[in-house]
Amino acid sequence: MKYSALKGIQDILPPDSHLWQRIESTARSLFQRYGFLEIRLPLIESTEVFTRSIGEATDIVEKEMYTFTDKGNRSVTLRPEGTAGAVRCYVEHSLYNLPSPQKFFYSGPMFRYERPQKGRFRQFYQIGAEAFGVAQPSLDAEVITLLRNLLGEIGLRELNVEINSIGCDACRPDYRNALLAFFRDRLPDFCPDCQRRYTTNPLRILDCKVPRCIELRQGAPAVTDHLCGECREHFDELLARLQALHVRYTLNPNLVRGLDYYTRTTFEVTSEHLGAQKAVAAGGRYDKLVKEFGGPPIPAIGFAMGMERIVTLLKEAATEETPAPKAFIATLGREAEREGFRLAEEMRAGGLWVEPNYGGASLKSQLRKADKIGAAFALIIGEDELKAGKAQWKNLKTGEQGDVSLEAVSIWLIACS
Ligand SMILES: [Zn+2]
Ligand SMILES: [Zn+2]
Repeated sequence: MKYSALKGIQDILPPDSHLWQRIESTARSLFQRYGFLEIRLPLIESTEVFTRSIGEATDIVEKEMYTFTDKGNRSVTLRPEGTAGAVRCYVEHSLYNLPSPQKFFYSGPMFRYERPQKGRFRQFYQIGAEAFGVAQPSLDAEVITLLRNLLGEIGLRELNVEINSIGCDACRPDYRNALLAFFRDRLPDFCPDCQRRYTTNPLRILDCKVPRCIELRQGAPAVTDHLCGECREHFDELLARLQALHVRYTLNPNLVRGLDYYTRTTFEVTSEHLGAQKAVAAGGRYDKLVKEFGGPPIPAIGFAMGMERIVTLLKEAATEETPAPKAFIATLGREAEREGFRLAEEMRAGGLWVEPNYGGASLKSQLRKADKIGAAFALIIGEDELKAGKAQWKNLKTGEQGDVSLEAVSIWLIACS
């Protein structure tokens, strides 16, 4: 019997996994400097956690959730995104009692039953951040700056930060009416999804990727022309702060997000190198969600970035070096082999990646292996070398060679850059 991974679900193997590790450790380091602490959330939650927060009339809830009934007859769902679980956790543990803002990050797999296609997976990975307890645009500016810096430190270039404000409960009804009036006559020409959205969530017509819909919505009223005084002020202050922090952005009035719980600020970081699915990260403010989960009325803002797309961009830029051992220790004879293992331990304790000979192979095949695994140096220890207390070394990149005493070889290798 031969098995293969489920459709749309991939294994992550070396050397890619090295890239993943580097992205994750860069994120951890940066989050720490901004005071974002890690929360580790369950992969599975009550289905309601997602339906109530994400909204019934979204693609995620309507078509894409991995939902099933468990043995206790409860409806459970593999998380399709991170915010709902983070807010459930925040309210359940009363984390709002901590000093504001409370800032958290998470990382791990998410699940959506999407039609598998290039760059889309049914199990995909995100790193996300959520910050609670501050309504002022200072927090929006910090979160967006953090995201920009994070993607920069990871090594992504030529990114656009796109920003919009989608208003609040006070001003959105007015905008919604303006949209409904604009779409009314054109509606029959839109795709079936948009026709449905007209009654369920007309803002999402602005989000449709169908080319005909994109054309038809040209000239639609912009949400930023319908903001109430407070939303306008919030947005203007955010833009002023981003300018002060030298975060370059573009305004995108069509950036409305597919999720119901967003209010005011929405943002996306896109790359021209990704084709149609060009968002690397996306986020926004969700001032109503904590209360909807039974907590106090606490404002919040967050983002999530997609690991697979970041990895694709980094591989395309091809600036990555595949990690390789510093040395392969080739040995001949049982005693030299033992000495090789002792040296490997010594060098590993000194922080080096070293591969020893596990026994049996000829010198020629050992050196071939050293080449194949990309070792920078080969060290050779046979009976003669052992007697003389020396190892021969060869720089496999330059061909240079020489010898060095067994006593000093570890320190010598550590010093070789
Ligand atoms: Zn408003
Ligand atoms: Zn459409």
